Formats: sequence, C-alpha cells, structure tokens
Amino acid sequence: MRATTIHAPGDIRFEEVPDPTIKQPTDAIVRVVAGCICGSDLWPYRGENPIRPGATIGHECIGVVEEVGSSVSGVRAGDFVIVPFCHCDNTCPHCRYGAQSACVNLGMTQSGQGELARVNQADGSLVKLPGAPDASQHAALLALSDVMPTGWHAAVCAGVGPGGTAVVVGDGAVGLCGVLAASALGAGRIIAMSRHESRQRIATTFGATDIVAERGEEGIARVKELTDGVGADAVLECVGTDDAMTTAIHVTRPGGGVGFVGVPHGVELPVRKLFETNVGLRGGMAPVRRYLPDLLERVLSGAIDPSPVFDLTLPMAESADGYRAMDERRAIKVLLQP
Ligand SMILES: [Zn+2]
Ligand SMILES: [Zn+2]
Repeated sequence: MRATTIHAPGDIRFEEVPDPTIKQPTDAIVRVVAGCICGSDLWPYRGENPIRPGATIGHECIGVVEEVGSSVSGVRAGDFVIVPFCHCDNTCPHCRYGAQSACVNLGMTQSGQGELARVNQADGSLVKLPGAPDASQHAALLALSDVMPTGWHAAVCAGVGPGGTAVVVGDGAVGLCGVLAASALGAGRIIAMSRHESRQRIATTFGATDIVAERGEEGIARVKELTDGVGADAVLECVGTDDAMTTAIHVTRPGGGVGFVGVPHGVELPVRKLFETNVGLRGGMAPVRRYLPDLLERVLSGAIDPSPVFDLTLPMAESADGYRAMDERRAIKVLLQP
C-alpha cells in the first residue's frame, strides 16, 4: 500500500510500504476512507519526539473493514467504522473502569495517513455505523477518532457542568472540540483563549460566549476580570506546554478543576499552588472508546458537528504539504483523502 511516512524532522513522504496484515486473531484491517493530521504528529515533525526513519505516521482515520481475525465477531468485512486512535479490548478491569486508554491490551493506529490501517482488539475498539455514511458526514465522523473525544475528555475531567463557567486554553482542533464539548455539557459561559481570528470564529460557532486573545499573565488577568476576580469552575488545558498549564491553573477558581489533554512537553506542576487553592487536576490520554457510542449518536443526530475543525482537505499523496500547512499554522487540521 501507499502510506505517509516520516524519515526525519520535516521529512514527510507518501510512499510504498508493506501492507499491514492480521497478526493476532483479535486484529482487523481497515481500508482508510479518510485520515487526518493531528497536532501531536507535529511533535516528531518538529524534532521534539524521537523518530524511527521510514515509520508510518498517522493515528486518526475512518474506513471500511477489509479483513478480520478469527476471533473478531463484532465487525466484519464491509462495515464502515470509526477507528479510535487508541485500541482497547473494552473488557479488562481498566476498560470496565472507563480508562480504556490504559487497557492491558492497548494498541495504537499506526498508518492512519495510509491506505490501510491495522486495528488491534477490533471488537473492543471499532464502532460501526448503521450503514455507509454520506461523504458530507466524513469530516464530522473522522473527528470522532481523536480530537472530539479528546476535547470531550478535557471537559469531563475539568468537571464542566450545567450553568458553570468554563475556560478553554488552546485553539487547536482539540481546544475547539473542547469548546463544543463544554457547550454540549451545558456550561453557561465558555471563555475561549485564542489569538487567531479564524479559530475565534469557530469557537464562537461551537458555543464560546467570550474570547480572550491575550496570553500569559495578561490572559490570566483578562479571564479573572471576566469572572469578577473569581476564576472559572472548569478549565480545559488542550496544549501540553508549561505556559498553557500555568494559565489553566491560574484561571481556575479555588476548588475548581483543570482537565488536561495536551500531551505534556516540559510541564512542571506548582503543587504548592494546587494545595493552597484546592484546584483539582485530572486528565490524560483520552479513553476514546468510552465516549464513542454517545458521541457518534450526537453526530448522527446533528446535535454536534465538529467538522469545521477541518479547514483544509488534500489528497493523501500531498500529506507533506498538509504537515507544512499545520506546522505554519495556515491550517487548523488537515483531512487527507486516499
Ligand atoms: Zn491525534
Ligand atoms: Zn482493556
């Protein structure tokens, strides 16, 4: 098959690689209908994460089941499925506790920007659609493989509740999905921290009531001002840098909660500040499968539509251009078509 690979920082190629094959009876092979580039793919692209030269890259996709292992009974060839970026059996103690991203049989999608992807634990991971969706629904469905459930997880971990105040730190696709999640979970006021006009517009469409363009100490002061000096009940940290975490902790009201889903890079926690303010901190890699059935229903019914986070669509063969566009922040999120 042809797939997107990474050879070195900034060196993305679309090239011939061996087809993934069924290795375990619990596996499935999915023919990718749409894949996309994740903000976290930019960490290796920018040389911030180790790279195995020539490795396939991409962990978000939707597609049609091509082949299943001998023990798979929940899906079969021809089913249209959402592929969660992290795979789980959905039966072990951690999965049953709602921590599917810590499954004892955890796997990850390895070639979501290629023509075929292998899924470990197909029965526990894949969620199939009632039929083949219309192409106009692909973008919203694709968001369910990672960014929408990740934004949702941030909102759940932060403790967003009906009528409460939420702040979203980060205006990437996950942060924007966090705004949508906070809105769907009933937050009365949603302050989106974003400097970019096009992203501010989407945040407003998704339910943000206020926009704060300032960053750092000025941003913290502005949120405090908007909340009468109190701070927000629930804060979603959707970046993963020390600055974003510092902002998140400082705009949370005493006794409030921070939900963090940005992959941490160089974050140091002010434990004493957390102690003094009783601010709770909870989050991590999203247990996508836990939220997927509910989120799929919300997308199919039209209750939520995360598709606006995709603002650039390219043929998969031009994935290198997609990485450049996201790296230079010319695109929020790039959808790739095989
Ligand atoms: Zn992702
Ligand atoms: Zn499990």
